[in-house]
Order: sequence, then C-alpha cells, then structure tokens
Amino acid sequence: MSDEPTDKAATKPCPICGKPAVTRYRPFCSSRCADVDLHRWLSGGYSIPGSTEEDEDGEEVPLAPRPPREP
Ligand SMILES: [Zn+2]
Repeated sequence: MSDEPTDKAATKPCPICGKPAVTRYRPFCSSRCADVDLHRWLSGGYSIPGSTEEDEDGEEVPLAPRPPREP
C-alpha cells in the first residue's frame, strides 16, 4: 500500500504547523507543537465534564421541589 516512495512516510509533517516532524518529538516538529496539540486535546477533543448533563440525567435533581414531610 505504498504508491509513493516511503521516504516521506518516515518524516510526516507536523500536524500543528506542517513542518517536517523531528524524530525526537514525533509526530511533531518540536516540543512546542507537541504542547499545542496537548492543549487542543485537553480543551477540545476530550469530553468536557458538564457538557453532557442532559445525557447523564439521573440521581441529582435539586431543582425538583419536594413535598413537605408531615408526620
Ligand atoms: Zn510543528
């Protein structure tokens, strides 16, 4: 499955800036780009707690008014 010379496959471009990746920081070109990707991952790709409240509906229903208990 390699139509092109595999020379390029060894050095994929940095997903952040597009520069040739460095082996040390693969798949990025530098530690900085790796850091950028990490931040993207944490803030974007990762499922943010709280954003899917409706889906997790279940136990806590603080807004529902409880009827007063009478002995
Ligand atoms: Zn880069």
